[in-house]
Amino acid sequence: MIYEPLGIYKVKLPLPFRLNHVNCHAIKGSQGWWLVDAGLSREATLNGWMQFFEEHNIKPSDIKGIYLTHFHPDHYGCSGWLQNYSGAPVYIGQIDADRIDRYWKGENNLLNSLDTLFRENGMPGNVVKETVDSVNNLIRFTSPHAELTTLQAGQVVTIGDFKYQVILTPGHTDGHICYYNREHGVLLSGDHLLPEISSNISLWPQTGADPNPLDNFLCALDSIRSLKCKLVLPAHGKPFSTIEERISELEDHHQARLQEIKACAGGGATAYQVCKQVFRQDLSFHELRFAMAETLAHLVYLMYNGELEVVQKEGVSSFRIV
Ligand SMILES: [Zn+2]
Repeated sequence: MIYEPLGIYKVKLPLPFRLNHVNCHAIKGSQGWWLVDAGLSREATLNGWMQFFEEHNIKPSDIKGIYLTHFHPDHYGCSGWLQNYSGAPVYIGQIDADRIDRYWKGENNLLNSLDTLFRENGMPGNVVKETVDSVNNLIRFTSPHAELTTLQAGQVVTIGDFKYQVILTPGHTDGHICYYNREHGVLLSGDHLLPEISSNISLWPQTGADPNPLDNFLCALDSIRSLKCKLVLPAHGKPFSTIEERISELEDHHQARLQEIKACAGGGATAYQVCKQVFRQDLSFHELRFAMAETLAHLVYLMYNGELEVVQKEGVSSFRIV
């Protein structure tokens, strides 16, 4: 039990990455149980859920709804399995429901356009291949797929015995949502607001993805201030209540990184060259993809801000200070 007044339990599930866990939540109400986020679709996740269900004597029909914060495999992945197990509806924001169709069920269009994006931004061909393959490896963690019910920003949903507002917080994904109980000031923040690490902000290929995700993220981060929440229950790391401080820290982090990246771009550098300077050298291909997409998100932010310009040469883009 992590927050008794709302009946919220934390279900910590393992991940096979350097970030080794995801916190899902199970919420007990007078009519049954509701889940928030699902984990990857793999055996270790199923074992984690089954253990929790046994400990709390939860039958499949006790599970009334599954709410997701965003489409990434460690949040969405196991929702289809949980839906088959319980028959419960699976809810996600409208924008991210669309991403699931396009990225996890698509005909490799995402992978082709990611390949092109990374090549055009200076990543060597052999590295591109391994990096794009790391996305391909994630797709298996998303099946079976869930039948989704979509949520709109501002909508109020009942989870357990209490009401939560759906808050659209784009940045980490274009359609990321948080669930906020105003009475208690409790925010189920997903990956939007994390205590120890900064949320990954990635530029995705421009097939409908937002062209300036970092700007979205910083706006959505600022908008959390006005909620005056008292407790954040994040999807990675421990719950925390120093919310104002954490928002300021994250803003400082991104401002510092923007300056660092601008300096690296200097008189002209590709996103890949900048990425290699800014991030540690021993990254797995899975991590390199995050690092490259994060570098691009910062570079395009600076470009839209008029601080950098893009120069094309032989099909490769370089950024330089204006
Ligand atoms: Zn995520």
